[in-house]
Amino acid sequence: MAILVTGGAGYIGSQAVKELLQRKYEVIVFDNLSTGHRELVRGGSFIQGDLRSLEDVRTVFRHYQVEAVLHFAALMQVGESYADPQKYYLHNLTSSLNLLQAMLEAGVKYFIFSSSAAVYGQPAEIPILEDHPLLPLNPYGASKFMVERILPDYDRAYGLKYVSLRYFNAAGADPDGELGEWHEPETHLIPSLLLHLLGRNPGFQIFGNDFPTADGTAVRDYIHVADLAGAHVLALEMLQAGGSSQAINLGSSRGYSVLEVVQAAEKVTGRKISPKFGPRRPGDVPVLLASGKKAETLLGWQRRFSDLEFIIETAWKWHLNH
Ligand code: UDP
Repeated sequence: MAILVTGGAGYIGSQAVKELLQRKYEVIVFDNLSTGHRELVRGGSFIQGDLRSLEDVRTVFRHYQVEAVLHFAALMQVGESYADPQKYYLHNLTSSLNLLQAMLEAGVKYFIFSSSAAVYGQPAEIPILEDHPLLPLNPYGASKFMVERILPDYDRAYGLKYVSLRYFNAAGADPDGELGEWHEPETHLIPSLLLHLLGRNPGFQIFGNDFPTADGTAVRDYIHVADLAGAHVLALEMLQAGGSSQAINLGSSRGYSVLEVVQAAEKVTGRKISPKFGPRRPGDVPVLLASGKKAETLLGWQRRFSDLEFIIETAWKWHLNH
């Protein structure tokens, strides 16, 4: 029996593939390579296909005995989703519905969904717990929320067992140096900052220094990508052991401001930054922190790599070599 990983050529998906292979799972990666990279898939079978084609998806389930699906493939730029919501709803919803349909037809019962902190919108309490209201502020977050909303109905009607993993800020690179963040264009803080230090992102700015936080810059909950990947395998094994469907945060309750990240990057790289401040990015909230308690208790999740300096160290090594 194999595990199907959609988006397995992407940043988080490729790390999860590596984790599954290390744990001796048979892995099938399905990716259209629109934003992923074939070089990041370090093993398993690879199929280039598009989830928006139900026939492409059905073919996979005809050829392989799939036991579970880890669904990473999605468009993920908040800014772009404001500008082109149709693209986001079309991609993210059609892909998920096609995948679920093919799973139902093939009798596949386990689904691990890449959700996001963006499903919560403006936090009413910090740290955010899983029962916090879901009020996404942008089309990207709404597309993740809509898929999450579908899943309990499929559990009730078809017995689909799922875990929606709500990622906070994925960061860092493979501790072995094989995999890392490779987005074009790059919009995330840590890679943008490191590319700036390498002279490849001269326009780097801190978006907003007038937030109601200690130093005026926004605070986020950074989780190492290898810790995120590990949580997927734990979630899968929880379902395989008969666990019930859940939505689970992957966060740490510990936040760092953009300026603290800049200082940590200076320390790790030994290079100096004179950051420019720009306006706030539309939709950015001042503080986003998640309680990771449920993941710890229910899955036995531990954050082994999520120390901020280690996150930056691994990302720096990756960017120096790529
Ligand atoms: N940020 C920044 N400059 C950049 C990229 C990001 O100041 O070039 C800020 C962004 O406004 C947010 C934080 O860094 O407050 C983390 O942003 P990122 O895009 O990495 O993740 P998000 O929290 O938006 O999912």
